[in-house]
Amino acid sequence: MSFTVAIDGPAASGKGTISRAIAEHFGFAHLDTGLLYRAVGNKTLTQGDSPEIATKLAQELTADDLNADDLRSAEVAQAASKIAVIPQVRTALVAFQKTFAKQPSGAVLDGRDIGTVICPDADVKLFVTASAQVRARRRYAELSIKDNSITPEQVLADIKLRDARDAGRDIAPMIAAPDAHLIDTSNMKIAEAIAAVIAIIKARHDQNHSV
Ligand code: C5P
Repeated sequence: MSFTVAIDGPAASGKGTISRAIAEHFGFAHLDTGLLYRAVGNKTLTQGDSPEIATKLAQELTADDLNADDLRSAEVAQAASKIAVIPQVRTALVAFQKTFAKQPSGAVLDGRDIGTVICPDADVKLFVTASAQVRARRRYAELSIKDNSITPEQVLADIKLRDARDAGRDIAPMIAAPDAHLIDTSNMKIAEAIAAVIAIIKARHDQNHSV
């Protein structure tokens, strides 16, 4: 029997770290769906970002594209959120994500529209968030290792811009599903957040197996 965990939330909220920890703890497969959008966005930086080009790039995406260098850069993050507003781009990426969610080992997917669009019937839904200031501090710590020209102010501005674009788009906006558990990691240690999420998933898993 498959078991699906849907984790949504904004950039640097901790959802990626939580997702990886959950996957390891329960033996679930993990898909970071942001990587799909980043891989398409990355290609648009050299090939153009018209809706037609971006849609074609999404339709032709390969597993190798997900291993490209620099997918984690700030530039690629912005490119990803720009192409993520194009309905045809999102449509091209839906089937792969839905199939991934159904695997028998169980699956955890993290992104922006997992609990609302990709897996509306997920066994457990979480919306992981934190204040923009806390998220910017975390993201700056990550990005400044590779790029010492980046400033904390720039990272905060980028995060706010991306939040606004992701939450404000017409199609599949970033929003908590009504039945999602809200986890605010602003004042939490990551180990605490992981423990809280493990308890939520375990409770639901035990419930599924007692019926
Ligand atoms: O999660 P990550 O920051 O890597 O995502 C990069 C961008 O991809 C997001 O800002 C968002 O625009 C887009 N995205 C999305 N839907 C998802 C995952 C990511 O629109 N499920």
